[in-house]
Amino acid sequence: MENFIDQLNEAQRAPVLHKDGPLMVIAGAGSGKTRVLTFRIAHLMAQGVDAFNILALTFTNKAAREMKKRIADIAGTAETKNLWMGTFHSVFAKLLRYDGDKLGFPSNFTIYDTQDSQRLIASIIKEMGLDKDIYKYKQVQNRISSYKNSLITVKAYFNNPELVEADAMAKRPRMGDIYHNYVERCFKAGAMDFDDLLLRTNELLNRFPDVLAKYQDRFRYILVDEYQDTNHSQYLIVKALSDRYQNICVVGDDAQSIYSFRGANISNILNFQKDYDDVGMYRLEQNYRSTKNIVQAANSIIANNKDQLEKVVWTANDDGPPIIIHRSPTDAEEGRYVANSIWENRMQHQMPNGNFAVLYRTNSQSRSIEDALRKRDIPYRIYGGLSFYQRKEIKDVLSYLRLVVNPKDEEALKRVINFPTRGIGQTTVDKLVVAANHYGRSIFEVIENIDRIDLKINAGTKRKLQDFVTMIQSFQIMNESADAFVLAEHVAKKTGILLEFKKDGTPEGIARMENIEELLNGIQDFVEGQKELDEATGSISEFLEDVALATDLDKDTGDDDRVALMTIHLAKGLEFPYVYIVGMEEDLFPSGMSMNTRSELEEERRLFYVALTRAEKQAYLTYTQNRYRWGKLIDAEPSRFLEEIDEKFVDNQVPIDRAAYRYKPLIDNDIFGEVDKSTLRQTKPKNGTPPLVNKPNENQLRKLRKLKRQLASPTANTNTIDPNLTEGSLVNHTRFGRGKVLNIEGVGNDKKAEIQFDKGDIKKLLLRFAKLEVL
Ligand code: ATP
Ligand code: MG
Repeated sequence: MENFIDQLNEAQRAPVLHKDGPLMVIAGAGSGKTRVLTFRIAHLMAQGVDAFNILALTFTNKAAREMKKRIADIAGTAETKNLWMGTFHSVFAKLLRYDGDKLGFPSNFTIYDTQDSQRLIASIIKEMGLDKDIYKYKQVQNRISSYKNSLITVKAYFNNPELVEADAMAKRPRMGDIYHNYVERCFKAGAMDFDDLLLRTNELLNRFPDVLAKYQDRFRYILVDEYQDTNHSQYLIVKALSDRYQNICVVGDDAQSIYSFRGANISNILNFQKDYDDVGMYRLEQNYRSTKNIVQAANSIIANNKDQLEKVVWTANDDGPPIIIHRSPTDAEEGRYVANSIWENRMQHQMPNGNFAVLYRTNSQSRSIEDALRKRDIPYRIYGGLSFYQRKEIKDVLSYLRLVVNPKDEEALKRVINFPTRGIGQTTVDKLVVAANHYGRSIFEVIENIDRIDLKINAGTKRKLQDFVTMIQSFQIMNESADAFVLAEHVAKKTGILLEFKKDGTPEGIARMENIEELLNGIQDFVEGQKELDEATGSISEFLEDVALATDLDKDTGDDDRVALMTIHLAKGLEFPYVYIVGMEEDLFPSGMSMNTRSELEEERRLFYVALTRAEKQAYLTYTQNRYRWGKLIDAEPSRFLEEIDEKFVDNQVPIDRAAYRYKPLIDNDIFGEVDKSTLRQTKPKNGTPPLVNKPNENQLRKLRKLKRQLASPTANTNTIDPNLTEGSLVNHTRFGRGKVLNIEGVGNDKKAEIQFDKGDIKKLLLRFAKLEVL
């Protein structure tokens, strides 16, 4: 324990040993920022700082657990237990359970996930009689979320003519009213959404100086990892809490800021020195994670960004093998290549599966990789996507449990009041909602008092409602003595959910039943785990909190050995010996939705930097020539990022011929027919010249995308093709002349013919556009 400081290099030691006061570590990937944070906490404790006075904020709860383990090894388990460590959301949810009552929230408040929020917003839009095509609930939810993250309360919204005006201009003049109703309804339901956990914490600390003082005094040392991705709301919380002692330590890398679409604000880094006096500024330059090839290649990529802080990253590690760039004809082939490569590496280097990660830009890309891994019998785990806890049957059971803990929870109640069916129709629920709004009470309370209110609900339905309430109350009584597992099992049986899926008998119903079993197993594990901790009891409310705030990485129990599949966003902060970055294609990575402005493009490039720097030993970049997207096979163009890597560090299995794509419409000329070649000015790019300058302009791109859409759309002006065209048919093409059909593939609009033309060429033509005549 004494010499743990020796496990750091000199540059790392300085911020660890930095005495009190604010400090910031800005450094490139893999240089030990997280390690510095961990060791600083251990060092503070070794210096006699009470763990109770330390708050550490991490990007995932898993990262927090790992850090805690590390610190426990150094400083001892007993002490480490008192650390407050976790994501912003989980830490401040805990704080709000203690003090949220000052804002009128019960300590057992429910946490609404995104799905709950969206359902509530959709029902508010309906109740207000608004057009759901103009007020799209997902967009509305997004907007409300960004208001909250910018600390724009309902009142602030209405006081801001610009915002009101903007929504009116966007033909959504009732936006503010929806926002108002949404906040009211959450409040009445005793519920907070994810953004509330930050917004309400800010409100609490602002409005109650004594509460602020209490936590300022408690959290004398505050440490934040991945500081570049904090949003305004998080920034303000940290600022308020650290205001008294100013013992704030933040670490981050501006080159890895990848969450600006969720409101993360890079200026938090840039302004740190203005916000605090006497800031200790530290830089780390030595990367311990990756080979020289990877580090230098990553440097050459990020150098293309204009908006970045000057940084040096080098490594004493070996050169390592070059980065492999691989081209595949299709996404299915790409999957096969990745699976084969993993398989070979595993054999050759005797590596476990857990040493491999496949990273992609969007979740939907995982399917072709999964298919290939399955065929090869390589076990894998997907992170992200629809989480287990968001599956219908799981949410159903959880909703009952949520009602046990907080009967005011409106979304939970609406979800299960008639599931399994018990004859309580939508009209009845609508009446209950109206009454609840009218009396300013929860739906549950309205039902409890149903005999005293005239709701025009018939006696039979009233009885069913009362039975429902009685059932929930019986669970509540049970909850006082039973642990989470016993209660959950009872609920799954007693409510009839298990029976409902069993009766169903379809494979889907059986799968749902098995998922519920899986949930119960999970709860049992949780209960056993919690009971080992002294202060925890394994209650259902502890379990629900855990579930609500689990980040996508947190489900990794790490107990079995699998290849990791995840989006690049999720991979932040992680490391793997072998990393495959797939789908290195224009429109996919960089994403077609994020290349309209330089700043969007720079964020995509930072994302690429993050992806590449996850690799320790070797990185693979793969792209395809054709890819299925939105159910259509489309031509793919190699990503511009591939050309930005200094070629010294790569092994290009096939030369990347972006010039061939450069002036070509996004649709293959041959397939599309006549294209005026004079518009296709072909110049070879000079070595190292960024390809951006040669790209078609926005207008051209728009036209091309439109063409592409038309191509993909079933209503595109279709050529009348002789349906009798078969293998061996003789045809005449207006431009290519006479030929013979070798092969026909695809169906409907995707039907293509491979034709041997008499002039010698073999071409694949999309039939609905090819100017063909059957001879
Ligand atoms: P990222 O920017 O990706 O979050 P980081 O700067 O947080 O990276 P760490 O994850 O802390 O970097 O460190 C990268 C790897 O290098 C880890 O495996 C860490 O244990 C190792 N490492 C860091 N510093 C040292 C050191 N002084 N000696 C040995 N290993 C080190
Ligand atoms: Mg880190």
